[in-house]
Amino acid sequence: MRQFRSAASAAVAIAVAIAVAIAVASSPASAQTPAADDALADASVELLQEYLRVDTTNPPGNESRAVDFFARILELEGIPYEAAESAPGRGNIWARLEGGSEPALLLLHHSDVVPADPAFWDTPPLSGQIMDGHVYGRGALDTKTLGILHLQAFLALHRSGRPLNRDVIFMATADEEAGGFYGVGWLVENRPEAFEGVGFVLNEGGRTLVSEAGAKQVGIEVTQKVPVWLRLVASGVPGHGSRPRAESAVTKLLEALDRIREHESEPRLLPVVDRYFRGISEARGEEWAELFLDMASSIREPGFMARLQDHDPNLAALTRNTCSITRLHGSGKINVVPPTAAAELDCRVLPDQDVGAFVAGIQRIAGEEIEAQTMMAFTPAISPTDTYLYATLEAVMQERFPDAVVVPAVSSGFTDSHFLRDLGIAAYGYSPLLVPVQDQAGVHGNNERISIENVRRGTQIMRQVVERIALD
Ligand SMILES: [Zn+2]
Repeated sequence: MRQFRSAASAAVAIAVAIAVAIAVASSPASAQTPAADDALADASVELLQEYLRVDTTNPPGNESRAVDFFARILELEGIPYEAAESAPGRGNIWARLEGGSEPALLLLHHSDVVPADPAFWDTPPLSGQIMDGHVYGRGALDTKTLGILHLQAFLALHRSGRPLNRDVIFMATADEEAGGFYGVGWLVENRPEAFEGVGFVLNEGGRTLVSEAGAKQVGIEVTQKVPVWLRLVASGVPGHGSRPRAESAVTKLLEALDRIREHESEPRLLPVVDRYFRGISEARGEEWAELFLDMASSIREPGFMARLQDHDPNLAALTRNTCSITRLHGSGKINVVPPTAAAELDCRVLPDQDVGAFVAGIQRIAGEEIEAQTMMAFTPAISPTDTYLYATLEAVMQERFPDAVVVPAVSSGFTDSHFLRDLGIAAYGYSPLLVPVQDQAGVHGNNERISIENVRRGTQIMRQVVERIALD
């Protein structure tokens, strides 16, 4: 066990002091009162502002600063924790509250954020400034607010002093934005004990969207498209650019890429995707409602896939395997015909797809002259919806937002959840924050922000979820 200690900024110390003062005020006996709820929510806003000011921009990451931030809070609360760096500055931290024998619950979020260009922001991106009822800062949506909600639910559980039916773990990890190999990926390999007994994970990836008309759609992410990153290599006779042969490594590669570009991957419907489309059908308006209610037929209709692709490429991507040709490498010199040429493909396959069969298919299309190499591929996995945890998330969200549609969702991107689904752990992307469609652009974009109302309400909902799961 390695403990990180460093001089935290005075600002952090003050925020922590405030949080702790509030914690002391809300003694276990009064933990359920509205006043205590309010105090917890107030503390969340301050803690979020502090967390947004911790510079964990990845690259380079510096997530050990986030470790310091959480370590101070946990120390003041008297909760033991563990921390480990996967590389200098790349810190991860986790703490476990011990409980009964039910499968442990892991509250996971990543502490790193993507870079932000201040030139395009209305506030400095790392200021945590409050403006128009919103907290601004890189990470407000992805995913420092979620981290604070997890922390507050975790601390409330600890302060209540009530016996837990299972262990509950709080974890903040490095490097998700660059693939997680210095974060969850590293921990799974090097600190497997951190995941001991874990049956369920709550992670980022859940989205509750509010349309401009006010319709709410709660998505609990149960699976993701599986990335299969391929490198296609062609070889040929090298020579001088002034004396070309009919065929070279480059021409072979171009022909193969053309075949891949022209190839239409067959649409098909996973049960979970079918459920998702039915769930969102009403909110998508008349033009789509009936089509989405019967996607099994719709995807067979001529022209439908092209229309869907046009309407929403993200939805189209949920119904088929896809490949984007993203990187090309030929000669290093304009007058040299190279001996090899290569292209890299970002393919994403449906989460029940056999990866070996998929790669063999690409190899067949590319042809014998091309060597398809797998650079990265995850194990396909879908978390079940018939678990107590899923049912609890669904029930709590339906109680809080009676007019919302709650659906299991499939993400076309990926998060750290796949590392845990690979271990057979049920992982859910879940967020109690209601994000207006127009604010979604802040994720990896400009003026990332979250409303104070959301932070406050989210604190209460997350606490309710965690208590319902961990207390009998
Ligand atoms: Zn994220």
